[in-house]
Amino acid sequence: MWSLKPYKSPPSKCPKCSHENAGFNKHIFTGVHILGEGTCGICGTNYFHNWPIGHGLEFPISFTNNGLARYPRKAYHWMARPLIRAVKKDLKVTATVRREVRKKIKHALLLNCLDPCYGHVLWKLFNTFHHQRVSAPQGVVVLIPESCAWMVPDHVAEIWAVDVSLRDINFQIDSLDLFMQEVSDNYDSLQMLPVFTHIDHQEIEFYQYFRTEPFQISEFSIKQLCVTFIWREDRFWLRTRLEEWLSLAATKFSIDWLRPWFLYRQLRAMVRVANQVKLELPVAMFKITGLGTWGTFPEYFEDLRQLNMTKDSEKKLCQAFAQSHLVVGVHGSNMMIPTALSAGFIELLPTHKIPFISEDILMKHPARYQTFLGRHLDMFTSTRFITRHIISIYKDFSYLYKNTSVWS
Ligand SMILES: [Zn+2]
Repeated sequence: MWSLKPYKSPPSKCPKCSHENAGFNKHIFTGVHILGEGTCGICGTNYFHNWPIGHGLEFPISFTNNGLARYPRKAYHWMARPLIRAVKKDLKVTATVRREVRKKIKHALLLNCLDPCYGHVLWKLFNTFHHQRVSAPQGVVVLIPESCAWMVPDHVAEIWAVDVSLRDINFQIDSLDLFMQEVSDNYDSLQMLPVFTHIDHQEIEFYQYFRTEPFQISEFSIKQLCVTFIWREDRFWLRTRLEEWLSLAATKFSIDWLRPWFLYRQLRAMVRVANQVKLELPVAMFKITGLGTWGTFPEYFEDLRQLNMTKDSEKKLCQAFAQSHLVVGVHGSNMMIPTALSAGFIELLPTHKIPFISEDILMKHPARYQTFLGRHLDMFTSTRFITRHIISIYKDFSYLYKNTSVWS
């Protein structure tokens, strides 16, 4: 493991001559990344490189302040570009760091969960599951955005919660290096966990993170149908290619007046599905959750949307997901907790998200249930077809369940 105390830094490739240099003895802790900084032993180029932690394990990046850069092409838009920009333009944000000590430890294993992407924060946090058996004087320290600290499991020794918005985590958090210097005297060693970003979620006990029991599958056909829609105001349920095109144009040219139209269309689609389901299942229940409170849903919807999330509102939403036969929403990290707790899901998938089809799904059932209860549908699927899936899942699951559980 790479380590801040005693200092053990990883090797890196020079962006100019490709020589592999041994670990440098200087670094900047930007937030998402630890950046090594030093001079190439062959060509004398001064450069930065990310330590192989988190996504840095798969995507090594090295760059200079005058335009030279080496990175995998796949990592350009979401990782290399923001990192290089933040360093070259010296983009910084100051944030307070709250230190919560739950167990006294001398050998800290630091799990850095800071990331501008909410889904990445969760995937990184799930790494704690595989380190829960470490015991004092060793212990796991989780570095995480304050807004996600409510999910840190009880077995973690310390939480370092950074009060910063996810969007600003693309900048350098300039208070972090100072904080690290101040707290490192508390430990005999401070090592960096590797932080795997695609661990097998089937092994994870979600209760440790969400403190909520998931939907009991044995009660699926006993309970009245409950469908929860996931609302977003930064990504819309777009219903035609024209709407998709308009949405791209609105983002590119900052056309704000189109936004209410997309929100209206999204709201209408959800209400239409609910109305169609109610024609066949009049006592079905519907909930709406998510960030943003635009528009008004019919009274038969339980509207749980919020402008801002708090620890209490997050827990309330977890209970809503765990009461849901199905959660329905567009592809994104907004689907992760809902699909971990509900019985099933319908995810609406835009074409450009096909390569990431499984990324936001945390549902874990035996294989046949997984296929039956989890449906990825094209973003432009008609509301009538979505309704058909919902009704079939609800009505036909009992046949599958009876025939697969008879021997258990
Ligand atoms: Zn070189």
